[in-house]
Amino acid sequence: MQTITSRLGTVRTRLDQACQQAGRPVADVQLLAVSKTQPADAVRAAHAAGQCAFGENYVQEALDKIAALADLRAQLSWHLIGPLQSNKTRVVAEAFDWVHSIDRLKVAERLAEQRPAHLPPLNVCLQVNISAEASKSGVAAADVAALARAVDALPRLRLRGLMAIPEPAADLAAQRIPHRALRELFEQLRASGLSRLDTLSMGMSADLEAAVQEGATVVRVGTAVFGGRA
Ligand SMILES: *Cc1c(COP(=O)(O)O)cnc(C)c1O
Repeated sequence: MQTITSRLGTVRTRLDQACQQAGRPVADVQLLAVSKTQPADAVRAAHAAGQCAFGENYVQEALDKIAALADLRAQLSWHLIGPLQSNKTRVVAEAFDWVHSIDRLKVAERLAEQRPAHLPPLNVCLQVNISAEASKSGVAAADVAALARAVDALPRLRLRGLMAIPEPAADLAAQRIPHRALRELFEQLRASGLSRLDTLSMGMSADLEAAVQEGATVVRVGTAVFGGRA
């Protein structure tokens, strides 16, 4: 069985090569290790191997893990990447550093109200339903600009950019299409007055190369770092 340290090394090599191919500095792409369903000890092992940013999907599971790893809190950043219901916003505003999955104003308003004053602003991304799947969460591409303007005006939040989970595609060329669409939306927002936006959260274990080619600044990688999920 491969260790988390060796898997992380393999993922970092993939990222380095993807950046090189894209002519981008390696420092421009952050690796977010997606630790959903993994035990706190797996996060501890990844941290020992130099990984500091972790993504979680399920609020209660994440809160338990953040508590179990309280001794490392100052060194870690915790990113919520899964769907967020209105009734869970308070604990999320209190415990996380980032939320990637904002897709409606009401959730953002609650987070803004509930972000404790002693913490820095909560970093947020808007999740875009870039492949226009009926079942997927995310704001429609046509509605992104209006939501971005409204979220950007809220206190205690810092709007950083866009996130998407494109439909799986077989090869690099097909994978690049939705990633390119998200990047174009991102560039339109930046050109329309939201020039502070700096985060394009896209790319997972199966398509991180395509995402880096198209300008990802954060790739969210689970199985390639931690192995399979139960
Ligand atoms: C699970 C998940 C990932 C990581 O997926 P892998 O295929 O395991 O790399 C990334 N982003 C989101 C939103 C996820 O839910």
